[in-house]
Amino acid sequence: MEHSGVDADVVIAGAGPTGLMLACELRLAGVDVLVVERLAQRTGESRAGGMHSRTLEVLDQRGILDRFTEIGAPQPVGHFSGLYLEFDEAESRHPYPLMILQTDIERLLEEWAVDLGVRIRRSSEVTAISQNSSGVTVELGTTPGPARTILTRYLVGCDGGRSTVRKLSGIGFPGTPATMTALIGDVELPELTEDYIWVRRCPTGDYSVIAFEPGWHRVIASEYDRAAERDEPVTFEQLRASLFRLAGTDFGMRNPRWVSRFSDAARQAARYRAGRVLLAGDAAHIHFPAGGQGLNLGVQDAVNLGWKLAAVVHGQAPESLLDTYHRERHPVGERVLHNTRAQSALARPGPHTDALRDVFGDLLQFDDVNRQLCGMLTALNLHYPIDGDHPLTGRRVPDVDLKTADGATRVYELLHAARPVLVDLHGSAEVAAAVDGWADRVDLVEATSVAGHWIVPDLDELSVPAALLVRPDGHVAWAAATDEPPDTSALRAALATWFGPPRQI
Ligand SMILES: Cc1cc2nc3c(=O)[nH]c(=O)nc-3n(C[C@H](O)[C@H](O)[C@H](O)COP(=O)(O)OP(=O)(O)OC[C@H]3O[C@@H](n4cnc5c(N)ncnc54)[C@H](O)[C@@H]3O)c2cc1C
Repeated sequence: MEHSGVDADVVIAGAGPTGLMLACELRLAGVDVLVVERLAQRTGESRAGGMHSRTLEVLDQRGILDRFTEIGAPQPVGHFSGLYLEFDEAESRHPYPLMILQTDIERLLEEWAVDLGVRIRRSSEVTAISQNSSGVTVELGTTPGPARTILTRYLVGCDGGRSTVRKLSGIGFPGTPATMTALIGDVELPELTEDYIWVRRCPTGDYSVIAFEPGWHRVIASEYDRAAERDEPVTFEQLRASLFRLAGTDFGMRNPRWVSRFSDAARQAARYRAGRVLLAGDAAHIHFPAGGQGLNLGVQDAVNLGWKLAAVVHGQAPESLLDTYHRERHPVGERVLHNTRAQSALARPGPHTDALRDVFGDLLQFDDVNRQLCGMLTALNLHYPIDGDHPLTGRRVPDVDLKTADGATRVYELLHAARPVLVDLHGSAEVAAAVDGWADRVDLVEATSVAGHWIVPDLDELSVPAALLVRPDGHVAWAAATDEPPDTSALRAALATWFGPPRQI
C-alpha cells in the first residue's frame, strides 16, 4: 500500500448529485474537500427525471438555479402515485417540478464544483476505512495504478444505495424488502402513436411512457407478481418482454440508451453518523422512486450537512453540531420512505386498489389534501425541531423581496455565499448588539420587506417577523415577532447553538 500524501479536511465518497452538492457547500465555506469516485467518468444514465420546488429554491439560494432552468422544462402538475397534484403559486417562487435528467443535473453540479475548486479524483473506489479520535484513514482502490491510502478529518459516504462506507462503518440499514419489479429504459418507440402514456394500469401491474427528448422515450414497466434478485442482470429483452406482458405490444422498441431496474425496497441507515464518518443521499436511504424524491432528498441532506461540517472543521462549532444533522434529516428520510410505501401500495394492481385510487383521487380535489401532499413531496413544509415561539422557526425562509441601503434584493440572494444571515427588518440596536460577537461568521443585513408574503406553508398564517436569523441552509433558527421587543437572549442562544461561541471582543 502506497501513501499518496494526498489528504483533505473532508473526503466525500461518490460524485453523484449528493456528493457533488456537498462538495460545493463545503468549498463555499472554505473547506479543503476531495471527492473520490469509483467510476472513470459519469455514466450518462438518465435516472432521476426532475427536481422539486425546495431543491429549486436551494439552488436559487446559491445563485445557480438559472443553469438548471435554462435546460429543464417546468411541469404544470406533480403526482402522488400517478394521481395529479396541483401546486399553489403562493408557496414558492418555483411552484412546479422541473423536468431535467440526472445526467444534466450531475454535469451542472460538477461544473459548479470545478469552478469552486473542488478536487474530484475518479477511478478511486473506497475499499476500507478506519477511524480514530483525530481522523479517518481511507483506502482507495485506484484504476489504473496501485491502491492508495489517504487521510482525512471526516469522511462522508455519498456512495449510493449499496454504500461501501455505510457497510464499513457498521451502520445498519433496516427496512422493508422489494415486493415488485420495475424495469426502466430510455429507448426509441417507432410504433407509438401517442405523445406519452401516463400510468396505464393492467391486471399485473402498470406502464408509462414519457417523452424526454425528440425521438426518445422513457418506458417504465412495473410488475407486482415477482421481486427480482438484487444482483440479477438487467437486459433490454427483459424490458421488452415486460412491456409486452403489460401492454400487449412493445411499440417497436429499439436502440436502448439505458436500461435499469428498481423496486419498492425501502431502507434507511439507523444512524447518519458514526464518529467521523457520515452518510448522505442514497447511502442513507433508498425507496420506491414514485413522486421523484430521491435525488431531492440527497441534495437537501447535503445542504443541511455542509455548513455544519464546515463549522466543525474550522473549529467554530463543537462536534455535537453534527448530531443535529441526524436529528433533523433522519425524520425527513423516514417521512419519504413512509410516503413512498403508501405510493407503492396505491400502485398495486387489482380492483381493490382501483377503488382506493378512485377514493384518493376524489380526496385530492380538496385543496387542503392537495396542499398537504404537495408540501410533503416538494419538502416545502419541512419543519426542523428548533426551539422558538415564532411560527417561522425551524421552517425554510420564504424568498421575500427586500430593500436594503444597497438597493433591492431577495432573501435568497442574501444566502448565495452560504453564510448565516441575520435580517433585521426593524433596525433594532439590541439585535445588532446581540450579533456583534458573531460578526466574523454571521452577516447582519438591515432591510425592509417590500413585497411577497411571509407565509408559512401549511399554516394558514401570515407571520411578518421583526428580525430573523437564517441558517446557511435557508432554515430559520430564530425570529422575533413585530408586536413585542426582540428576545435577544434567545437570539444569542440560537447563535451559540448553530454557529459556536462568540469571539472574545
Ligand atoms: C431507475 C431509477 C429511477 C429514478 N428516478 C428518480 C426520479 O425520477 N426522481 C428522483 O428524485 N430520484 C430518482 N431516482 C433516485 C435518484 O437517482 C437517486 O436518489 C440519486 O441518484 C441519489 O444520488 P446520490 O448522489 O445519493 O447517489 P448516486 O447517484 O447513486 O451516486 C453515488 C456515487 O458513488 C459512487 N460510488 C459507489 N461506491 C463507491 C465507492 N466505494 N467509492 C467511491 N465511489 C463510489 C458511484 O459510482 C456513484 O457515482 C431514481 C433512481 C433509479 C435507480
